[in-house]
Amino acid sequence: MKVEEWIAELADVERELSVRLANAQDVSQVEDVRVWALGRKAGRVTSLMRRLRDLAPEDRPRAGDAVNSAKVRIERALDGPIVGSGNRQPTLPAIDVTLPGRRPPRGSLHPLTQVRRRIEEIFVGLGFRIEQGPEIEDEHHNFEALNTPADHPARDMQDTFYLSGHFLLRTQTSPVQIRLMETSRPPIRAIMPGRVFRRDSDATHSPMFHQVEGLLVDSGVTMAHLKGALMSFLTAFFGEGTRARFRPSFFPFTEPSAEVDIACVLCMGAGCRVCKGSGWLEVLGCGMVDPEVFRAVGYDPESVTGYAFGMGIERLTMLRYAIDDMRLLFENDHRFLEQF
Ligand SMILES: [Zn+2]
Repeated sequence: MKVEEWIAELADVERELSVRLANAQDVSQVEDVRVWALGRKAGRVTSLMRRLRDLAPEDRPRAGDAVNSAKVRIERALDGPIVGSGNRQPTLPAIDVTLPGRRPPRGSLHPLTQVRRRIEEIFVGLGFRIEQGPEIEDEHHNFEALNTPADHPARDMQDTFYLSGHFLLRTQTSPVQIRLMETSRPPIRAIMPGRVFRRDSDATHSPMFHQVEGLLVDSGVTMAHLKGALMSFLTAFFGEGTRARFRPSFFPFTEPSAEVDIACVLCMGAGCRVCKGSGWLEVLGCGMVDPEVFRAVGYDPESVTGYAFGMGIERLTMLRYAIDDMRLLFENDHRFLEQF
């Protein structure tokens, strides 16, 4: 047998197949066409393939290619929609092009980002600007200018990641205050969100975490201004009716200093496991800028006063969403993140 005849016969099969398919009106008739063409015993294509061996060996590859591509076309035609004439409805699953498409799943902002943006939004509303500073700092900006001399416990090697020379990974966002005051004159009203680093890692500590620092410098600034700004913030962040208390504390760069607690968001002050029975949760530290800090940046402490505050974004996020392990915020487990 000549290969041309063989290929012509294959073309005949394909032509007849499209006629038969055009007349098929339901799934079972399409199935009949399939058996007619590809049936294992008597299918037309099957028997043509059986007769490949009647061809000269050098013609077989050409015939093989032809039948393989024909089979792909045939399968596709058999799997396509039924176009048969007549009044019957097609019974193969049809595609309803009017249905809305399937949307790809959409991610959301990380809870820490959401909380940071919320904090920024509130303080911008109170008239604060947003400032940033470097994550690699020098000892001067991270410690000395913040009234933290070399023998201060906060400078212990155990707490700080030191780099070569006098550089380190900043342990707080406070050095941004110094950089800001070095490059501008009062009045200053800014918050400074950013990442900070400490050698610490457990359920409530992470070696990298986020702080928001705030600084206001002007003439005649008092602790009352500080309290007013922070109460506005806490009410906006935790909700109307949030109760807070200012507790005396110590920070090297503020004097006087205070820590701010809010009534426990879980037990409303009654005492629970999260607030360790006290009914209060510490949320931030603050105070009036120490005159030594003003001197370090060349301000006259006799003519300007100011307040500063700092808070941990992780802590606020954990309180707001009642998360009890900080590590959850950094593991990026979708099952956890999807809840925000
Ligand atoms: Zn509580």
